[in-house]
Amino acid sequence: MSQSVGGMSESTAAALLSKGLNHDKAAPSGPHETTKVAAQCHCGAVTFSVSLPVASLPLRGYMCHCSICRHAGGTYARIGVVLPPGVRPDWAGGSMPSDKTTSYEVPGRPTPQFFCSTCGSTIGGQGANGQWSMPVSLFDSKFWEIRVHGFPKSVPDGGLLEWLLPDATAAGAAGAEEIIWFSPDHGDSFVAAEPERAADGSERLRAECHCGGVSFTIPRPSQAVRDDAYLRDYVSPSDPMKWKAFLDLCRDCGRLSGATVVPWMLVPRVVIEPPVPADLGREEQQQHQHQHQHQQQQQQQPYGTLKTYKSSAPNTRGFCGVCGATALLATEHREPTAAQAVLNVAMGLLRAPEGVKAADWVTWRAGKPAWAEDAKGYDEEFTVSLVEGHRRWGVEKYGEAPEFDVI
Ligand SMILES: [Zn+2]
Ligand SMILES: [Zn+2]
Ligand SMILES: [Zn+2]
Repeated sequence: MSQSVGGMSESTAAALLSKGLNHDKAAPSGPHETTKVAAQCHCGAVTFSVSLPVASLPLRGYMCHCSICRHAGGTYARIGVVLPPGVRPDWAGGSMPSDKTTSYEVPGRPTPQFFCSTCGSTIGGQGANGQWSMPVSLFDSKFWEIRVHGFPKSVPDGGLLEWLLPDATAAGAAGAEEIIWFSPDHGDSFVAAEPERAADGSERLRAECHCGGVSFTIPRPSQAVRDDAYLRDYVSPSDPMKWKAFLDLCRDCGRLSGATVVPWMLVPRVVIEPPVPADLGREEQQQHQHQHQHQQQQQQQPYGTLKTYKSSAPNTRGFCGVCGATALLATEHREPTAAQAVLNVAMGLLRAPEGVKAADWVTWRAGKPAWAEDAKGYDEEFTVSLVEGHRRWGVEKYGEAPEFDVI
C-alpha cells in the first residue's frame, strides 16, 4: 500500500495513514494476551505464523486498486493487511527463505515485493518503516476487516469497488469503522490502452503482466469457434462477439494471487497469440526452467518469464517468474481434445481500453461467483458483500444477473 494520501491537510492525512498502517494496533506494553495465526504459500515452501495482540483485533485490512497491484497480481486489487508495529512474521526455519522466494523491485517503490518461486503465491513485503504488508489470503483464519481502499482513481469503471455493497465502502452499519481512502483524488491512474489490431485488421485484446515478461493477445470469438460443438459454449450467451467471465473465490486462487477473489476470462487456447507454451497443460511442469537464464533474455520471448505450477490434479497454473503475476490456468476439465482446450486468463492483466472490467469483451456471470459457499466459511463479510453486490450490478447492467456454466 502506498503511503501517500492526497487532497487533504497534512495532519489529517498523517492521522489516516497511521490508522491505515494499524499504528494504533501495536501491542500494549506489559503482559497481554496474544493469538497465533498460521500462514503459508500454496505449495508450503514459505510457512510462517504471526502472534497478534487480542486487544488489537480486528486489524484493518486494505484493498489496493492501483495498476501495479493489478498487473503484478493478475487480479483487480491486492487484498492485504499491514501488520502492526512490532508484529513480525515468525518464519518456519527462522527467516524468510530467500532461496525459495523471488523479489520484484517496482520502479519508484522503496522496497521489493516477494513471492514464492515455486507456486507464485504473493508473500508481500516490508514498507520503508519496516512494517510487513501481506495478502490476507495467506492466513488460515480471518483477523481483519477491510476498511482501507487505495487508489480508486485507478479503476474508473469501478473495478471490484463497484461490486461491493455500499456498506463495504462507506461508514457502514452501526459499529463498523469508517473506510479510509488513500489518494482518492490522484496518484496512480488508469492508463487507457490503445485498441490493438492484428495484421488482418481484426481486434485483439492485450494481456500483459507488470514486468512485461508475459504478454499475449485474445481475438473476438470467430465463426470457427461459434461452429465448434465444444468451444461454442464459451462464447457469451448474450453476445456472439464476447467471451465469458466470472469471479472465483476458491482458496487456491486466493492463496496464489494475493487477493481473495480472482476475475477469470475463459478463452480457447487455439485463439491466443502467440501460442501458449505446451507445458501449461497436462504435461508435468518443468520446475525452474528459466532459473538460470538472464531476466532480459527471458523477456525477449512472449512467455519468457512464465513459470508453471500444478496446483491440483486437474489444474496447472501459469505465473510470471519475474513479477509474480497470476496469468493463466489450464484444467483437464476443459480439454476434451488438445485443439479444444479452454484456458482461464487472469483479468488483472488485461489492457482493455474501456476499463479494467473489459466490458466490451466479456459477459460477467454476475449471478454466480464460483466457490462462494466455501469462501463464506473463510471471510463471510467480504463474500456476502461481493456476491450480492455483483448480482445487483448484473441486474442493472444486463436486466438479470447472468448464470451460465464455466466448466
Ligand atoms: Zn509456494
Ligand atoms: Zn497497489
Ligand atoms: Zn511479469
